[in-house]
Amino acid sequence: MKYVSTRGNAPRVDIGVALAAGLAPDGGLYVPESLPRLEVADFDTANSLAEVAVPLLTPFFEGDALLGGLPAICSQAFNFETPLVAVEGGRIFQLELFHGPTAAFKDVGARFLAACLQRLPRPDARPLTILVATSGDTGAAVAAAFHRLPGMRVVILYPDGRVSPRQAHQLGCFGDNVLALAVRGNFDDCQALVKQALADTGLQSAVPLSSANSISLGRWLPQMVYYAQASLAHFRLTRSVLNFIIPTGNLGNAAAAALARRIGLPIGQIVLATNANDVLPHYFSGADYTPQASQQTLANAMDVGAPSNFERLRWMYPEDTLLRASFTAIATSDEQIREAIVRHHAHTGRVICPHTATALHALQSSPRNPADAWAIVATAHAAKFEGVVEPLVHGPVPVPPMLAALLARPSHAEAMQPDYGHLRDRLLNLEG
Ligand SMILES: *Cc1c(COP(=O)(O)O)cnc(C)c1O
Repeated sequence: MKYVSTRGNAPRVDIGVALAAGLAPDGGLYVPESLPRLEVADFDTANSLAEVAVPLLTPFFEGDALLGGLPAICSQAFNFETPLVAVEGGRIFQLELFHGPTAAFKDVGARFLAACLQRLPRPDARPLTILVATSGDTGAAVAAAFHRLPGMRVVILYPDGRVSPRQAHQLGCFGDNVLALAVRGNFDDCQALVKQALADTGLQSAVPLSSANSISLGRWLPQMVYYAQASLAHFRLTRSVLNFIIPTGNLGNAAAAALARRIGLPIGQIVLATNANDVLPHYFSGADYTPQASQQTLANAMDVGAPSNFERLRWMYPEDTLLRASFTAIATSDEQIREAIVRHHAHTGRVICPHTATALHALQSSPRNPADAWAIVATAHAAKFEGVVEPLVHGPVPVPPMLAALLARPSHAEAMQPDYGHLRDRLLNLEG
């Protein structure tokens, strides 16, 4: 399989090149040159995430040196499960993606990318440094995924005082080959510093750098795996498709569900649940696609006004009419997020995070055929957002063991001014 850019002006490359590069040189996103076709029968002996991942991802690695290592990459990356849990009457499910090391679905993509990058041939013995700017969840997932991997280092930049206390603790608690920099600025400052470093060829000849942002092919492809596993399990029991409602920000997770459906998995409707950042609901109800500045909401990992992976949906469905017919998008206000958390807790005893609440609101606010089966996608554990959730459910949310283990470790971040000279000096003086 070769990879091309969504913008069509970059050379076609092998998956190894696309994984290492992040963005294509023309500014587009890497996509496969053609779509493989898979059948339910291709997965007959596959049950665990790692087992489903191998036949699912094999066509995407065909012809590349990484193919032989794919089973090992999958068992290293998918070392936790993503259970499909019945919530109501055998027709409504919750797909729980928060059982990884940092309790959010980004663990899946980050761990797969790390396992791939670790195996890519390197020109010399110097370590590869992954540079990430984060407003919360991404940085922790990337740090956890690369922690103690030989030949790899991670440098995280986050806006000091603008992530939750638990998020800040998570970012600083790894140590070893992970350095957390608390930047005295906002997220845009962090992102600008990272971009400047990634474009600094002089720096990169001394310190080889790579990135792990959400448009990376190595984070996108593996996110198909839990949709494949859940829809296959449902299909085996019922001979019918499973419909998904997906909390959506940058559209990486939902674009992965869309790709899984396109290549033949038994997936029905895909609903994109957004917060008050409603660019996608506008587009899917017929308006032009017009990116906006992002606004802050309770579901902060979805505060995106210009979803980058929209280019991948357009690549899959180049015609507007077909694209609009293939998805529904529903926006949720902060007030509706709060209501959904309170109502779900009252009815089921379960506590959901603010992101998951947008999917629940979308489920409850749209008409549906009672015979259809729906899964709302739970993208993070509620304990990561205790400041929002605990006052609403009037009690503490128990912290899952993996997250508790991270929070029990000492945490340390270095303060840094938002100044490129400082970042450059620090990168030139990393140990190990
Ligand atoms: C990142 C994130 C999202 C949004 O996912 P996208 O792939 O950017 O659409 C939703 N929920 C949580 C908890 C996240 O961390």
